[in-house]
Amino acid sequence: MSNLTVQDGQVVSMEYTLHVDGEIIDSSDGHEPLEFLQGAGNIIPGLEDELYGMSLGETKNVVVAAEEGYGELDPDAFIDVPADQFPPEIPLEVGIELQVHDENGQAMMARIDQINGESIRLDFNHPLAGKELVFDIKIVGVRDATEEELEHGHSHNEHHHHE
Ligand code: ZN
Repeated sequence: MSNLTVQDGQVVSMEYTLHVDGEIIDSSDGHEPLEFLQGAGNIIPGLEDELYGMSLGETKNVVVAAEEGYGELDPDAFIDVPADQFPPEIPLEVGIELQVHDENGQAMMARIDQINGESIRLDFNHPLAGKELVFDIKIVGVRDATEEELEHGHSHNEHHHHE
């Protein structure tokens, strides 16, 4: 099994550190490695594409452009809301994250992007939209997926139980 390289239909375990704008913003250090089914879109496409052919123990530095990561900033995802529509307990400061419900009651995360007098500009983009992602990765496990995993489109392990 040690000659396995990453291809579609395999369950991959990966250690990773994610750098954005020169800062470490996420890492598997001190956690379980990230486990996913290759080829099933479980991870961002720009990273998944770079894993094909990697072998157990191999490391790689992967730079993912914004459009292959969390997407470009969507200019339509900025919305101006009058300040008096915010509950008084919410501090109106740039960078504050808040949960907003749309007309269907769906919860969405937004950040206060700008304060223009009585008008508050909310940014509904993913916090990593428009950002180049730099990953340091190491493949720490590769195995064939089970029939059930292939059917479900994700990996199963002791941490992942579902109906
Ligand atoms: Zn499943």
